[in-house]
Amino acid sequence: MYWRYLSLGLWVSAGFYAAFFFSRETFFTTALLLGSLLGGAIWVGLDFHRSRQVIQWLKSADHTEPPLKAGLWGVVAQRVQRLVMELDQQFDESEDRLLDFFAALNASPNGVVLLDDDGRIEWFNQTASSHFGLDIQRDQQQHFGNLVRDPAFAAYVATGDFREDLMFSGKLSTPSGPIKLSVQLFPYGEGRRLLLSRDVTSLEQADAMRRDFVANVSHEIRTPLTVLAGFIETLQSLPLEDDEREQYLTLMSQQASRMQSLVNDLLTLSRLEGTPFPGMNEWVSVQSLVAQIDQDAQALSSALYPKPLPAQTVVLTIEQDDEIAGASSELYSAFSNLVNNAVRYSPAGETIQVTWRRLADGRGEYVVQDSGPGIGSEHLSRLTERFYRVDRSRSRDTGGTGLGLAIVKHVVQRHGGELNIQSAPGQGSRFSIVLPFSRLRKAHEDV
Ligand code: ADP
Repeated sequence: MYWRYLSLGLWVSAGFYAAFFFSRETFFTTALLLGSLLGGAIWVGLDFHRSRQVIQWLKSADHTEPPLKAGLWGVVAQRVQRLVMELDQQFDESEDRLLDFFAALNASPNGVVLLDDDGRIEWFNQTASSHFGLDIQRDQQQHFGNLVRDPAFAAYVATGDFREDLMFSGKLSTPSGPIKLSVQLFPYGEGRRLLLSRDVTSLEQADAMRRDFVANVSHEIRTPLTVLAGFIETLQSLPLEDDEREQYLTLMSQQASRMQSLVNDLLTLSRLEGTPFPGMNEWVSVQSLVAQIDQDAQALSSALYPKPLPAQTVVLTIEQDDEIAGASSELYSAFSNLVNNAVRYSPAGETIQVTWRRLADGRGEYVVQDSGPGIGSEHLSRLTERFYRVDRSRSRDTGGTGLGLAIVKHVVQRHGGELNIQSAPGQGSRFSIVLPFSRLRKAHEDV
């Protein structure tokens, strides 16, 4: 600022001295005055020119290079330039933050729709687009209620009570592939609303499965219980001969063990679901597993087909003496379930082949092959569902619970393996469990 007054003073002085040296004596005083005024006027003109330069620069779009570096106008221009740069930076940062925020909302597994105070769509993410079939070009600024023409949604909006969510079918829902959405509105700002949608199809399906499961279990338990209650009533109310009483007690004991098997299988399933996957520190010998299974299969076969019926033959082949890393009780349960099924569903006198071998890629395969009735292809994909039975009466008569293959599937998955089923009516069945190489070692190969 001082430099400014100084430069004004210098220009006035320059005018004054120029008049002092070049003026004549007659107009000396006037010349001095005019000289000083001229010096001042030149300074004002130059200053005006500089201020115009700065104003032009301020009006322009490009503020990268200020027109002046020195003097008051130079300082003003540089200050303005710094402020503009700071504002630009702040603007860029907020824009980046906003973009990050929208990117995060876009990545959300939940649908997000921003509605204005009139219920028009301001913004929506990709999930919402697939939930409601919205199009980013077409549906911006459209009334959400016009696009989602579900009476339940209209009623929900009309109530104005958004404390609970609303369930309705998604746009892409079909009878064979239903999609259930949970939708909730959250008011914010001045009359605006945030709409959140969540795909709850799998939760709904899990809920339906749970209900079916409870209904199935109740049904499975009720049948033997009803029989038991009937026998108890008979025993209490009728005077029976000893052999009759004996016969009733035997039937009662069969029903009780049927319930026991069911409860045992249910407990096994719940243990399988509730415990961590088996580690790699317990090694189970295939040889000893299969030997135990053979004994049990022979016992089951003679119980199902008492003499004089011809007993079934179980042929065991162990191509390589291996050990499996896993839970012995689980592996026993899976391996024996397949053999027991083969015994239970094959007629008397049939041969059941049980084989353990290594595949070319090093994985281990446990195969149970029978020459029983076989299974129709329409049933194969559902065999491992709980309580799914192809032959209900044969299953019940032979002490089946309908849970055996569900247990096998669980155990196999927990050991990183796969269960394969090949069967056709009249051509027997081949159930195989393939276990990964990482869970196998040759017996006595302790490391
Ligand atoms: P279950 O206790 O009824 O045997 P599973 O889950 O073990 O239950 O088997 C499911 C159904 O698969 C059985 O009810 C039966 O109809 C069929 N099944 C299983 N193994 C065989 C087999 N080896 N031969 C023919 N059918 C079989």
